[in-house]
Amino acid sequence: MSSKGLLIVVSGPSGAGKGTICKELLNQNPQIKVSISATTRQPRNGEIKGINYFFIDKNKFELMIKNDDFLEYATVYDNYYGTPKEYVMKNLEDGNDVLLEIDIVGALQIKDRFKDAVFIFILPPSLEELKNRIVGRGTESLADIEKRHGSAISEIEQFIKYDYAVINEDVLKAVGDIEAIIRAEKCRVLRRTEEIQSKF
Ligand code: 5GP
Repeated sequence: MSSKGLLIVVSGPSGAGKGTICKELLNQNPQIKVSISATTRQPRNGEIKGINYFFIDKNKFELMIKNDDFLEYATVYDNYYGTPKEYVMKNLEDGNDVLLEIDIVGALQIKDRFKDAVFIFILPPSLEELKNRIVGRGTESLADIEKRHGSAISEIEQFIKYDYAVINEDVLKAVGDIEAIIRAEKCRVLRRTEEIQSKF
């Protein structure tokens, strides 16, 4: 499927700083629309329904799967996470760029479906720094921290399936890298063919 707006898919292991980078990217680029995922995980302290996630129960999630309401979904750390289809499709159709911050399993589903989406993998500067960040966040239990750190290593091996790798040594620099990727993607001949042929 090809779309008018650019679909930007961001993944990376827990603790790489995806959340902070995406938040800053959206602050600096308010024209980019962000998809709010649905999840069956419990809200963390300070998370707000409809802003961080749509927190729903397992039955509702499974009903949405059955109704084909998701563009993609995956089970991450024992919970369901999914991208509601309608919001993304409408915005892409309207020519808006849409950001998805999703895991690798979901990203690969999107890759099958949207040939011209752009896939960005965010990496921490080192494994040690990654663990410090998960612990420092203070939102997960000890068991969850171990689980997330353990998966991080196998997740990082998947970076090769993405188009771009951004190393998060500094948030503003990482945001600048993503902005540059978006600008370059928009200059691709394939995206500009119609516009150029209509002008010249
Ligand atoms: P967290 O529980 O830390 O908010 O998110 C855990 C993981 O789920 C992160 O890697 C995040 O990118 C991923 N995730 C969040 N929303 C979605 C979604 O809609 N689909 C998929 N496949 N993964 C998601």
